[in-house]
Amino acid sequence: MEEKEFYQFKNSNYPSKLSPVCENIQNQLPDMLEGCLDKVSEDIVRAHLSVCYLCEKVWIEMQKTVALIESLPSADMIQDLTPKILSELEKEIESAVPIPWWKKYF
Ligand SMILES: [Zn+2]
Repeated sequence: MEEKEFYQFKNSNYPSKLSPVCENIQNQLPDMLEGCLDKVSEDIVRAHLSVCYLCEKVWIEMQKTVALIESLPSADMIQDLTPKILSELEKEIESAVPIPWWKKYF
């Protein structure tokens, strides 16, 4: 009983249709996240976020997602690239060893 009420209460924060204002704000969130939103638009978005729970939630989730995405590839890269980096390093070392000029003639 209580759970159901809680569920409904939570669901009330997710209306099936966003207001056009929220839609417009949320469309600008990715740009703001990348820092390519102009100052005026950013002020408008931030002002809206401070009064709109829905958009603020989307913004927070977006930041979390980006933080997660940014943390994942670096971990993968270390695993994926280590052998490549090592073989590249080996090539570097090999090519760094000078071949005596006279070897060409023998
Ligand atoms: Zn909103």
